[in-house]
Amino acid sequence: AVVLRDVHKSFGAHKVLAGVNLEAQRGQVTAIIGRSGSGKSTALRCIDRLETVDSGEITVCGRRVDDPHVDLKALRLDVGIVFQSYNLFPHLNIEENIMLAPRAAKGLDKAAARELAHSVLAKVGLREKATAYPEQLSGGQQQRVAIARSLAMQPKVMLFDEVTSALDPELTGEVLKVIEELAAGGMTMVMVTHEMAFARRVADQVVFMNAGRVWEQGSADILTNPTTPELKQFVQSEL
Ligand code: ATP
Ligand code: MG
Repeated sequence: AVVLRDVHKSFGAHKVLAGVNLEAQRGQVTAIIGRSGSGKSTALRCIDRLETVDSGEITVCGRRVDDPHVDLKALRLDVGIVFQSYNLFPHLNIEENIMLAPRAAKGLDKAAARELAHSVLAKVGLREKATAYPEQLSGGQQQRVAIARSLAMQPKVMLFDEVTSALDPELTGEVLKVIEELAAGGMTMVMVTHEMAFARRVADQVVFMNAGRVWEQGSADILTNPTTPELKQFVQSEL
C-alpha cells in the first residue's frame, strides 16, 4: 500500500503540496486528476523519492520513504514509475533496453534476463518486437516497451504520470489497454491521468487535487456527482 499523511512540499517560496493525504490499498487503482500545476506529478514523484518532502509521512509497502536513511535501492525495486516520455536507449534494441535494469539490479545472467524481457513484452503485446530498435516503433509501442521495462523489475506498485499525453489520440488506446490489463491482474497502481473515461472505468479510487491538496476523493462516482465547485468545473472543462 501507499500512504501519504499531511505531506508538504515547497519549491522556494512556492508551496506545491499543502498537506496531502492519500491512501492507495494493495491491488487498488488510484487515479489522480486535477488541473495543471495542482501538484499531481510532485506528489507522485515524492512517492518514489524523486523529490523529498518538507514534512509529513510517506509509507510505501511498509517502508518510510520520508526517512532520510530509507533504502533507495529497495524502494526502487518495489516501485516502478513510467512517465510521459519513454526514454528508451536508442542504440539498444527493445530486449536489450528491458534487460539492462534486471541485469544490473538483480544480477540476472543474459539468458535469464532475455527470457524475462520476452515474457514482459508478451504482456504488452510486443513479443515480436524484441530485436527491433526504438526508432522503428510507434510512440504507443515505445510507451508499451517502457511499461514492460518497468514490469521486468517485478514492482509491487506502479506509478504512471500521464503516460498517454504525448501520444497521438489513435495510439492512446493501446497503452490504456495494457494498463487496464495490469489493473485486472491486481497490480497496485497510482496514476496521474487526463483520460476521464478511462479513470471512470478503471479506477477504484479517484483523487482530485487542487491547490496542492486532495480536494475531493471517492469512487469514480465523484466524476458524475462532484461535491465541490472546483471538481464540478474541472469535470466540465475536461468534457
Ligand atoms: P501538470 O498537469 O501540468 O503536469 P501537475 O499537477 O503535475 O501539473 P506539478 O508538476 O506537480 O503539477 O507542479 C506543481 C507546481 O510546482 C507547478 O507550479 C510547477 O511549476 C512547480 N514545480 C514542479 N517541480 C518544480 C521544481 N523542480 N522546481 C520548481 N518548481 C517546480
Ligand atoms: Mg504533471
